[in-house]
Amino acid sequence: MLVVMEAHATAEQIEAVCAEIRAMGFTPHPMPGPTRTAIGITGNQGPIEQAGRLQRLPGVSQLIRVTAPYKRVSREFKELDTVVHVGGVPIGGEGIVIIAGPCTVESREQTLNVARAVRAAGAVMLRGGAYKPRTSPYSFHGLGEAGLQILAEARALTGMPVVTEVMDTETLPLVAEYADMLQIGARNMQNYSLLRAVGRVQRPVLLKRGFAATVKDLLLAAEYILAEGNPNVVLCERGIRTFDDSLRFTLDLGAVPLIKQLSHLPVIVDPSHASGRADLVIPMARAALAAGADGLIVEVHDNPAYAVCDGTQSLVPDSFADLMRQLARIAAAVERPLVAAERLASVGGEISSGDTALA
Ligand code: PEP
Ligand code: MN
Repeated sequence: MLVVMEAHATAEQIEAVCAEIRAMGFTPHPMPGPTRTAIGITGNQGPIEQAGRLQRLPGVSQLIRVTAPYKRVSREFKELDTVVHVGGVPIGGEGIVIIAGPCTVESREQTLNVARAVRAAGAVMLRGGAYKPRTSPYSFHGLGEAGLQILAEARALTGMPVVTEVMDTETLPLVAEYADMLQIGARNMQNYSLLRAVGRVQRPVLLKRGFAATVKDLLLAAEYILAEGNPNVVLCERGIRTFDDSLRFTLDLGAVPLIKQLSHLPVIVDPSHASGRADLVIPMARAALAAGADGLIVEVHDNPAYAVCDGTQSLVPDSFADLMRQLARIAAAVERPLVAAERLASVGGEISSGDTALA
């Protein structure tokens, strides 16, 4: 339920409504809007029987039932876009955020090389898995803490905040120590104990859509995180399984504007896992920005033929730089800037384009 205050409601009137909500045993969430404040109510299991008491309080304009099953995630609950700040990078604001890096941290040299290259090309965040969920138990599963340390070094070198996957609640404290943003992978989107656990840590979360998850499933998964007190969630469309197996997955771009209508949370797109093919990453990335995505997460490798995982979908640094030039034009066409690398704390000296080799 949402209590919408009158445009000129005073701070005292807003507080009186909050106090009444608390007295009913529920939790008030005052949300100042462009014209008026709305107060969300959580903690109730069904309709609030004593709602009439709220309606009669001074300054209250109307009560609205939030009909969506996902409450805090819904646009009904919060009208304004949420901006999630990761390090110095705002995701979900006016600017479009490009995240890039290897599928997995293979070595110090590979990770630092790729980090410098994507930073020089204009990426503002670094991706890379230290813990990898793999379909086969016999595949490479990541360097673990050693991989996290390499990511921390890459952050120190480039100034880029790091997003990396957390696979289970046991390793969450360790991953949260190193990561600027916690990634929940497609395979874990409905791991509800993990969702609750990341909801209790003070780190932004990148929640990827499961292969077989509907948009509603994704939004309800995000609700688990918000319900535990962490409002900093970014959603990621990364392709779903359909009858068509021509590509690795089917990129559901319609989900992007739909989610932006249903929810205030930022939405980014992963064109790499969606297509599974480097030659299709650039067109799908362009399409994602045109569809209204708040950013992209792209896999880049300095030597894809030798990549330990996902080499076929990884761009080489030169192709990534080409992609960035094209994205600048798409961003201009949709009248949004690309979030610029100048926002990052300047560390590790100047990184100019072309300066992609590890010193
Ligand atoms: C990844 O981003 O490295 C990854 C494993 O993606 P997904 O969970 O979407 O398959
Ligand atoms: Mn990958």
